[in-house]
Amino acid sequence: MTMQKSYCKQMRYSGPESLAPKDQDKFDVLIQMEVLSGCEQACLGCFVDKNIDPGMNQQIIDRAKELADGVKRTGLNLREFVIGPTDFFTASNTESVLNNETVQEIMREHTGARIAAPAKFDVATMERVQEIFNILDDEDKFRREMIIEFIMPIGKVDQMLNDIVYHQEVMRKVKFFKENTPKQMDWSWTLQASNVVGKKIDKETYNKIIQKSVNEYETIVEMNPAFSRANSQLVQRKNLFGWNEFLGRVIDEGNSNETVMSMANLYCNSINFVGITIVPGENGPTTHLNVMLHEQAFFLKNKNLDVTGLTFEEILDRKHELVTKGINRSSKVKDCNGCQFAVACANRLIFEAQESLNIDGCVLNKDVLDHYNPFDFTWNDDALKKLGEAS
Ligand code: SF4
Repeated sequence: MTMQKSYCKQMRYSGPESLAPKDQDKFDVLIQMEVLSGCEQACLGCFVDKNIDPGMNQQIIDRAKELADGVKRTGLNLREFVIGPTDFFTASNTESVLNNETVQEIMREHTGARIAAPAKFDVATMERVQEIFNILDDEDKFRREMIIEFIMPIGKVDQMLNDIVYHQEVMRKVKFFKENTPKQMDWSWTLQASNVVGKKIDKETYNKIIQKSVNEYETIVEMNPAFSRANSQLVQRKNLFGWNEFLGRVIDEGNSNETVMSMANLYCNSINFVGITIVPGENGPTTHLNVMLHEQAFFLKNKNLDVTGLTFEEILDRKHELVTKGINRSSKVKDCNGCQFAVACANRLIFEAQESLNIDGCVLNKDVLDHYNPFDFTWNDDALKKLGEAS
């Protein structure tokens, strides 16, 4: 068993924010593939196409391999290989994707990479979990101690908080992860914009979710708005504003440390991160740069972010161009001009989100960002030494 000691700690510190300042030029790369088809869940406000045609899957996987090879060529680090968009346990073709030799090759070649997947293991049968792990634990296919991260949407808040039988069922699966597989397992809850906006979760309920998660489920809640996947710009904007309002209402000094807001941390997923998503398009797979807006998001219709056909090196160039463009734009947007977060936002391609959503102003909640980015400390050890403030 190579179970990680604390899901909570592991999830909280496993991103590039944990790199020392001297390693901040080591880009982390996330490659996400939309290849899973079918899903038996009915999550509130589900934003993905549950029935994508898997006919294009081999092309998508080959494109992922091409990009993963580019990551290796450029000396960067593949951190996450996301297999989605539907539930890992009830999609009709999870086995076929996991048995794909190119997928296995990618994971063999990138020993620091994890497979990350949306997974409702709370409602999966034990038999189904076993079936999937029979493939993952076959050492002819995947490395023995490969990392797997499941991201589980919180469905019914009341059930997650108060249903003892449900809690036992979730923990039964967690026990399986601890005792029945040599894989390094991570999992976290995710709270999605649709759940928040649709259900009006108040601060008391939010705090209960956070506490229950850390104390009884032994993991953390990740914030994953995913509003950019909504069909219309109107709904995207509504979800975004609803999400920002929600964060402002529930997050305070006392609970900000209990939640992973990878997007809100300036170190995380900005200068040292590139996220790329491959989806089935009308005439073959299309590839898109992710925008790190709270969490990863992508805007299929934004031409600047469309990097279909580009090599990995060209994608890096495109990202740099968009960062420069964003920094230039920041001085022209009233909210952003002089904002202390402007450079980080540019690196997260946030200004492309402003364009895609047709919003000429802040798309984040700055009060919330303040909790995660204290500007009254010098963050770099080398800088401290220069200032003579460290021995
Ligand atoms: S989007 Fe908001 S946080 Fe980012 S630079 Fe503009 S005002 Fe600042």
